Amino acid sequence: MKALQILGIGSLFFCLSTACSQQERFYETGAYLLGTRLAIKILPVSGRTVEKDAAHLLKTIRKEGALLDSNSAEGIFARLEKNASYLWADESERQLVLPALKTSLALARRTAGAFDPALGSLTQLWGFSSLTPRQLPPTAEELQQARERSGYTRILSFDTSGVRVLPRTRIDLGAIAKGILADRAATLLRSWGYRQGLLDFGGDILLLGEKINAPWRVAVRHPRQGGRWWGIVHVRDLAVVTSGDYERYFVFEKRRYHHLLDPKTGLPARACVSVTVVGPLASLADALSTALFVLGPERGLPLLAREFPDYQALFILENAEGELHEERSPGFSSLTGWQPSSQQDGH
Ligand code: AMP
Ligand code: MG
Repeated sequence: MKALQILGIGSLFFCLSTACSQQERFYETGAYLLGTRLAIKILPVSGRTVEKDAAHLLKTIRKEGALLDSNSAEGIFARLEKNASYLWADESERQLVLPALKTSLALARRTAGAFDPALGSLTQLWGFSSLTPRQLPPTAEELQQARERSGYTRILSFDTSGVRVLPRTRIDLGAIAKGILADRAATLLRSWGYRQGLLDFGGDILLLGEKINAPWRVAVRHPRQGGRWWGIVHVRDLAVVTSGDYERYFVFEKRRYHHLLDPKTGLPARACVSVTVVGPLASLADALSTALFVLGPERGLPLLAREFPDYQALFILENAEGELHEERSPGFSSLTGWQPSSQQDGH
């Protein structure tokens, strides 16, 4: 049997022996991009050179990733923070960043602000994406200052010329950017005629078509036992995105401080350990995994059913004793052929 392949932070993709000979028909490539390991598999089609197309795809993802990068000191969002307005420099910014902002703002409203694209002052204060992450929580005063400069209602307007915000507002699209880029990559692949493939953007996985005569199998990672999985989803033409408190965090006085912030408090959200969302678009699944993590199942499940009926979610929760259990949206099992793992025990 071929060894388990670990391709994502939030999820594991693997193949079993029966599928491995078919697996070899996929062209595989990867890169370190968007602060994560990116893995791509494409089933070649006649009339195209898959190596060339994959290289073009990676180049496009790198370029678009740089435009959406919230942390870059010279990027669009750093300049917007400094000047409170930003005019698109060219068509590629207008075609990418404008719709990204539009979608993000709509999702902020539809998730009651649980997904908030203007939390940049807070995310920078916590510094989980920084090269030198902090190991201590910020002070109450620091938090208060960053909260005053955060929140999507500080985005004043955007259109085909540019975007305006209240002074010192930092936009952070970190919770949706990888999903947006995955959707765009899939559209590009389809426009070239490819119909089967896998895009793994480190926890944001988008599947094109099926594997070979069978759905893709994606394992949801066990949130407290690295290398183990919690269960397996079986999907075709769907995105599988996980947000978890184990991705970027530090422990201070026995408490875990992680990168998923509750916009209401500016503190790491405490409702969940991980949330996996499955649905048609990686961008929406990405924003929703973050939002549902903040909301928890009690508030998140009714919102999902009401606002996003094409999306299903798996919540992994922890009780006061540190024991894990799961809650699923009503359609999760039928959409994914959910197969819980015998490795769920242990915490
Ligand atoms: P993800 O791993 O997709 O859930 O995205 C997490 C990243 O999104 C963090 O590293 C922050 O940059 C940003 N973020 C954290 N909390 C939120 C939130 N409540 N809404 C929007 N973005 C967030
Ligand atoms: Mg997300």
